[in-house]
Amino acid sequence: MAENPTVLITGASSGIGATYADRFARRGHDLVLVARDKQRMEALAARLRDEAGVAIDILQADLTNLAELAVVEARLRDDRRIGILVNNAGAALGGTFVAQTANDIGRLVALNTTAVVRLASAVAPRFVKVGEGAIVNISSVVGLAPELGMSVYGATKAFVTFLSQGLSLELGPKGVYVQAVLPAATRTEIWERASIDVNTLPVVMEVGELVDAALVGFDRREPITIPSLHNAEQWAAYQAARQAILPGLRQEHAAARYQVSV
Ligand code: NAP
Repeated sequence: MAENPTVLITGASSGIGATYADRFARRGHDLVLVARDKQRMEALAARLRDEAGVAIDILQADLTNLAELAVVEARLRDDRRIGILVNNAGAALGGTFVAQTANDIGRLVALNTTAVVRLASAVAPRFVKVGEGAIVNISSVVGLAPELGMSVYGATKAFVTFLSQGLSLELGPKGVYVQAVLPAATRTEIWERASIDVNTLPVVMEVGELVDAALVGFDRREPITIPSLHNAEQWAAYQAARQAILPGLRQEHAAARYQVSV
């Protein structure tokens, strides 16, 4: 793999993905940009080719469409210059669970989970074979907090965080770096697209600060990066508490509180 591998970024037409494109281009990486809006990607690519002098390809794809997703999977499988996948494309869904339609829920799950895991699956065998490569999955702090009331969106992000942690354990020893990035509220179009006014949120991070912090975590090879969490020991304690219950989960008999007296 080249010293400065090509980076494939999904959801690169706006927000966090477009900012990753900007930052990786400035680091000298060639790019493959993936999203639905070709015009916006072309405008971004023209600017970055000009400012950073890198080569940029555009793949127009709706990642909820399996045929279009397959084209991106094939590119990841076959293009040996691609050494970093940024699995960033995603959407949110406003409203309560009972107000959301099954079709909207299905599309959200397809984009936020199925596409993410299929793209990782397309690229991982090649990365393992060469013993290097990186997969960056953009999750969310919402996946840690059912209390926030975005149940389906949060569930998709819990999936992304779990998947990343599992893949980090599986692929890390084979030379492949897997990072989950968990942004909190960040100023992008995702809010407007989900009919939420970003200005009603109490605290919002600017997208440049979010991506720059995520790249610090990337450079440190952190498995989980939570830019907004100031007290890193809280995450360590949370992981330790989770790991502490694992040995007790495998038992032959039900716990005393579930024993039925006859
Ligand atoms: P955004 O500005 O709305 O960007 C979303 C990107 O995904 C766009 O490039 C969009 O491009 C692409 N996309 C949407 N649907 C797609 C589809 N069906 N097929 C292909 N591409 C699609 O929002 P963002 O905040 O940057 O979101 C990026 C990621 O960050 C998401 O995974 C989101 O869940 C996560 N995140 C965001 C926040 C936040 O507060 N902003 C917080 C936590 C996590 P097209 O419309 O051109 O397809």
